[in-house]
Amino acid sequence: MINERVVTAINEQIKNEIESAYLYLSMAAYFHDKSLDGMAHWMRCQTHEEFAHAMKFYNFIIDRGAEIKLKDVAQLKTKWSSPLDAWKEAFNHEQKITGNINDLIAIAREEKDYASEPLLAWFSEEQVEEEANTSKVVEQLEIIENDKTGLLLIDRELGSRVFTPGSPFDPVAIKNI
Ligand code: MG
Repeated sequence: MINERVVTAINEQIKNEIESAYLYLSMAAYFHDKSLDGMAHWMRCQTHEEFAHAMKFYNFIIDRGAEIKLKDVAQLKTKWSSPLDAWKEAFNHEQKITGNINDLIAIAREEKDYASEPLLAWFSEEQVEEEANTSKVVEQLEIIENDKTGLLLIDRELGSRVFTPGSPFDPVAIKNI
């Protein structure tokens, strides 16, 4: 048995994770357009990861015998003024998601829904990594300022991201991503 308020909040979070995937896919297209294929690759990997996050919550709702209610996804931006502008938005977005997870933890505690604690603790830890990853790129782009060689070096570095999680529909494959 799962508390209805917790179910509503998790359904909302499924939408937030899908919106994250959608935002990063939009950023991937922006970076491809700028021939920054390394950054685009990183964003494609991130899109996959965010969809897997949504499916972790989705599977949890199913396992708890509650109802999935998918919500509308917001129309997102498709253009940014610079790579730095896009990465700043990615970092801000992750900070917002951290706030969402914190709110979810607070609701679960208020409702004494202890069964959701391990999942939410996993997401809380994940958000530390997500904020660190995006803020690092923001800081590196601020260091190089308008240096194009530096930009290409960062792009190459981000292009080396390895991500092989398997299908986001496979509960075993997404256990640790
Ligand atoms: Mg996420």
